[in-house]
Amino acid sequence: MLPFAEARERILQGVSRLGSERVPLRAAAGRVLAEDVRASEPLPRFDYSAMDGYALNSADVTAAGPWALPLHGESRAGAPLARLEPGTICRIFTGAALPPGADAVVASEDAAEHGGRVELALAPRPGQHVRRRGEDLAEGELALSAGVRLGAYHVGVAAGVDRPDLLVARRPRVTIVGTGDELRAPGEAGSPTSIPESNGLSIAVLAESAGASVLLAPRIADEAETLRERLARALEQTDLLVTIGGVSIGRYDLVRPALEAAGAQLDFWQVQIKPGKPLVYGRYGPTHILGLPGNPVSAQLTFGLFGLPLLRALQGQRDPVPPFESARLLAALRQRPGRMGFYRARWSPLGVLPVDNQASGNVLSLAYADALIAVPADSEGYDAGALVDILRLSQL
Ligand code: AMP
Ligand code: MG
Repeated sequence: MLPFAEARERILQGVSRLGSERVPLRAAAGRVLAEDVRASEPLPRFDYSAMDGYALNSADVTAAGPWALPLHGESRAGAPLARLEPGTICRIFTGAALPPGADAVVASEDAAEHGGRVELALAPRPGQHVRRRGEDLAEGELALSAGVRLGAYHVGVAAGVDRPDLLVARRPRVTIVGTGDELRAPGEAGSPTSIPESNGLSIAVLAESAGASVLLAPRIADEAETLRERLARALEQTDLLVTIGGVSIGRYDLVRPALEAAGAQLDFWQVQIKPGKPLVYGRYGPTHILGLPGNPVSAQLTFGLFGLPLLRALQGQRDPVPPFESARLLAALRQRPGRMGFYRARWSPLGVLPVDNQASGNVLSLAYADALIAVPADSEGYDAGALVDILRLSQL
């Protein structure tokens, strides 16, 4: 049985990045940047005023104040550049270019206009309320670096440096397939011992949150030949095949042999964690395979712990693995040593409180929890008040 960190390392080690594609900025949000973006011009492109007020040459107000300068002309945002007449002051608006000859701006509220003259009580500092050309980025300077997952603010920066589009990693194709005779679609009629398939949906949403394009394939019954044939087909046109269920050691757990019969190379099938001990990882050529246990908590958590980092790495995302954070444990947490435990918990600024029902079939607890407490395999747990390693579910 592989320890948690080693299992994840084994998966990430074998990742080759997928190709890239150029997309318009709007579509680039949520994707991973596949190029360095540099400023093609200085940012900002010209000196401009940060305030509504008056532009002047600070050297014109050196003797004892107050001062009154003749008002001459104005500079509006987007208007052509006009020179400041020596010895005068010019009206200026936020975002308007600073006229050559001026080196400072006095805000409207610090000046008074009377009969064609502007009176100032305080002398402006050179550069006051002026945003300088190239102050944010010099020409050629790095604005965004490859590997970042683009959010609202990143695409704003790209637009700011005049880029209409960006090169991003192509979306990983993920095929998800549930296995089990008992499964049916939610709302579909079925025998009293059937259950609605619920894992596939949650895992599809998780995968999409990591930028994947997901195919939720029809469920497969627990029958060796059907499984082999269907899984062989599912392996063809995808970057990651996720199977759900059928990977433990029961008589009807047929996924592992079916994958092997379909030509997959399995790397490991047990990880020293709880929940989620039976967990298959393998490859079929460039295609990655994750065989998740069927229990809803196990399936969804193991996908979060292994599948999401894998999807990020495929897209070349920097730091594909979220780091543990530290939090105060608000109640004692005990475990039998042997496997690394991931316990669902409620997080608050005060600390983490384990949820009562840690059964791996209890999906409600996952929807209710917002963090996982990680307890090392050799630990018997902690007393209330201990500092523990946690992962926020929203950041898996
Ligand atoms: P298995 O890993 O196939 O032994 O399944 C373990 C448990 O998870 C059983 O109670 C299954 O009925 C349940 N299960 C398996 N697959 C799913 C699924 N896709 N959605 C919901 N429950 C499932
Ligand atoms: Mg099953």
